[in-house]
Amino acid sequence: MTPPADVERVSIVGGGITGASLAYRLSETALDVSLYERGELGEGATAASMAVFSWQSLHPTALDHRLRRRSWAEYERFVEEGRIEFTPTGALDVATTPEKREAIADATEKLRELGVDAETLDPEGVAAFGIVPNAVTGALYTEREGCFDPDEVVAHYAKRAAEAGVRIETDTEVTGIETEDGAVSAIETPDGATETDVVVNAAGPWAPAVNDLVGLTLALRRTRGPILDVQDRIEGLPFTLFERADGPAGYLRSHESGVYAGRYATDYESGEVLDPDRNYSTGEEFRDEVGELLETYVPDLAGSSLEEGWVGIRTVSPDGLPLVGDVEDGGPEGFVVACGPSGLGITRAPAIADLLGTYLETGRTPEDLRRLSPTRFTDVADATSDTS
Ligand SMILES: Cc1cc2nc3c(=O)[nH]c(=O)nc-3n(C[C@H](O)[C@H](O)[C@H](O)COP(=O)(O)OP(=O)(O)OC[C@H]3O[C@@H](n4cnc5c(N)ncnc54)[C@H](O)[C@@H]3O)c2cc1C
Repeated sequence: MTPPADVERVSIVGGGITGASLAYRLSETALDVSLYERGELGEGATAASMAVFSWQSLHPTALDHRLRRRSWAEYERFVEEGRIEFTPTGALDVATTPEKREAIADATEKLRELGVDAETLDPEGVAAFGIVPNAVTGALYTEREGCFDPDEVVAHYAKRAAEAGVRIETDTEVTGIETEDGAVSAIETPDGATETDVVVNAAGPWAPAVNDLVGLTLALRRTRGPILDVQDRIEGLPFTLFERADGPAGYLRSHESGVYAGRYATDYESGEVLDPDRNYSTGEEFRDEVGELLETYVPDLAGSSLEEGWVGIRTVSPDGLPLVGDVEDGGPEGFVVACGPSGLGITRAPAIADLLGTYLETGRTPEDLRRLSPTRFTDVADATSDTS
């Protein structure tokens, strides 16, 4: 990857956690940076998020762990400086089959090798968290997880970026990208065209539409993330994933007055044709799913009223890692993407911003960025239909 020569002006499309953290990272450089958000900052997938910083993975890799460590270093600094709040919760991944228990034991070992203080709990071990052990074969426990207020994090990044000279245009949709001699030359909004050398697509679930502006198709799909609000809470419940035999895991995450119950669909195979501009309802099937989960594992919450929450949309890639960097021959020179965070966009955003920032600032491609190349998948035949 080589960025276009003499980059001076960078335009970021999208003011969610990805765009805002990149704007902040680039504000430390000599680049002339503008961020365009078609609505309010953070109103997309970021607002729909549980905003848990996660250390867990069933298939931990050194690359993914480096991204999380890099992100955490920045978030931790903000927390210590009193700029953003972090609510520690810990995290559990509950197994209900012998196979998953085995996978958890493997993951525990790998996470420990990577420096994460992970434990495999026996079924009795989950009882301390208010979960009944009968239907459980074990659980992966890590205690350093917790959650942010995603609005607060985005606002902080945007404030710092603006103070350092980044232009932030809200209520401004990017409607076109102009090119000249095969390179990006200007960005179009309803206010007209503005010259730029680089466009970064950080448009979250709308990323495929922004890619369409330059005729690019990437391996991205969308998954549905329904959330109900359980009107009761139990003390000490970590952010908890529950394995389900017939579909993506369910999860519970406490908030001040209750517990959010959601579905954790992050596999490429779970991709659906979804319109990110539509307000989906969570639906009866999901309500039954949550009722069953509570009755089986957390009977203290069974029978609590389930208020309608919302349906967030995740953008996922085939290997669960984001697509970051320039698109080589797939699009014009100077068109760069930061999309497909696959359910971990809050956890990974600062690391993505740092890698991309290094690339745009210095022209150097860090090895980790190379490995996140958006063109690493050659088979994108299904991508268009699943994101149309
Ligand atoms: C239900 C749910 C729960 C989640 N929980 C977690 C979690 O616990 N931990 C975690 O790490 N991650 C979690 N995630 C994932 C995380 O929220 C996302 O990966 C992350 O917020 C994506 O941020 P983004 O900035 O890339 O996208 P977005 O936040 O969607 O931002 C993209 C922005 O681009 C704007 N935009 C789109 N098109 C244009 C255009 N043409 N011009 C200008 N602006 C445009 C949109 O308005 C939007 O604001 C969750 C996701 C969901 C859906």
